[in-house]
Amino acid sequence: MLSYQHAYHAGNTADLHKHALLAAALDYLTRKDKPLTYLETHAGRGLYDLNSPEAAKTGEAQAGIFRAEAEGWLAPDHPLLRALQDIRAVHGRTAYPGSPLIAAHFLRPGDRAHLAELHPTEHAALSQVSGFATIHREDGFRMAQAVCPPTPRRGMLLIDPSYEIKADYDSLPRIIGQIARKWNVGVIALWYPILADGRHETMTGALRTAYPDALISEVDFPPARPGHAMIGSGMFILNPPWSLAQEAARLEKLFRQLP
Ligand code: SAM
Repeated sequence: MLSYQHAYHAGNTADLHKHALLAAALDYLTRKDKPLTYLETHAGRGLYDLNSPEAAKTGEAQAGIFRAEAEGWLAPDHPLLRALQDIRAVHGRTAYPGSPLIAAHFLRPGDRAHLAELHPTEHAALSQVSGFATIHREDGFRMAQAVCPPTPRRGMLLIDPSYEIKADYDSLPRIIGQIARKWNVGVIALWYPILADGRHETMTGALRTAYPDALISEVDFPPARPGHAMIGSGMFILNPPWSLAQEAARLEKLFRQLP
């Protein structure tokens, strides 16, 4: 049984990196007057309360979105902050959008979305807030393989596993290869943790070799708690939208300069 719940980690530093790139990519893709499909293999519950007991227990958002806002890490008109403002206007000032609701901010009436979430509680919560999408309560990799190539064919897939199943590190390059062969125009983004013991490096090495033109953005930050394994955040993006390398470079410089 899966035990990971993103409510403990929503708005943390890794979310900030992942969601800033996701929002920037979708902002760019939805400027073109052509419909697209947005897919997610591991959607989570879509909407988080940063005042919840789960968020309070870890306090991780303090080093992420709250610090980013206090210190102006993102320009006031950054796509992520625009999505956040919209969510707060509707759900209150402690609300934080997960990736599905960040996507919802950008999607237009002709666009389509498919979201997979396996955990029963997370799936139920996601269903409450995702009227814009088809929700799949099934393995996200299976959903992506079944739906790709999607209609409309333009679009983006976010793969954001919790890595509870350690075999994910081994299988992801193969899974991405299968999806990319079926959907060669899709923007395929994979989030991964940078781990102190370097466990992610075989996977990222395989992806770098297979896709030398992909965008890889990695940022380092202090562990959320002493001894915590995650010491950074990575995004691998195949067929990145034109402007995304610039946003990735800006975020990487920002993280390097943080005291
Ligand atoms: N993408 C979300 C965001 O940024 O707001 C966070 C997702 S969280 C890191 C990973 C989610 O994947 C969890 O809610 C977990 O229940 C779900 N999950 C784990 N294994 C899955 C699978 N094989 N298929 C679909 N969902 C899965």
